[in-house]
Amino acid sequence: MDTENKRVYGKWAGNTNGTPAVQGKCKESIRGDFWSFNQCTNNAKKDGYCLMHHPDKVKARRDKQDAKWEMEREISQRPYKKRLLYWETLTKIANGGINDPVGYAKMVLGASHEEVDRLLDDK
Ligand SMILES: [Zn+2]
Repeated sequence: MDTENKRVYGKWAGNTNGTPAVQGKCKESIRGDFWSFNQCTNNAKKDGYCLMHHPDKVKARRDKQDAKWEMEREISQRPYKKRLLYWETLTKIANGGINDPVGYAKMVLGASHEEVDRLLDDK
């Protein structure tokens, strides 16, 4: 199928006809009712897409969402990392591996997220 000019919308299993693309409208397929797909009704502004569905805009939105998820994942790991660091610190102190246990414990308790990461990497 020539995906540029003969895109077929409203297509579902059993319907091989669908609806031909309306020229001048955005060529993105939008999910309609009952698993059918319809052509976006916005006017085509750039490369055959409306501004919302242009691949550059879609990618920018996806990248932004990915960055947000990555940040949330990073934040969700912090409590775990702190518990891990506290456990490692207690173990080091118990093994007599720390010359100034009071100072070391205070430093660990006051560590920023970046310092926690650095302390866990420094083994
Ligand atoms: Zn569109």
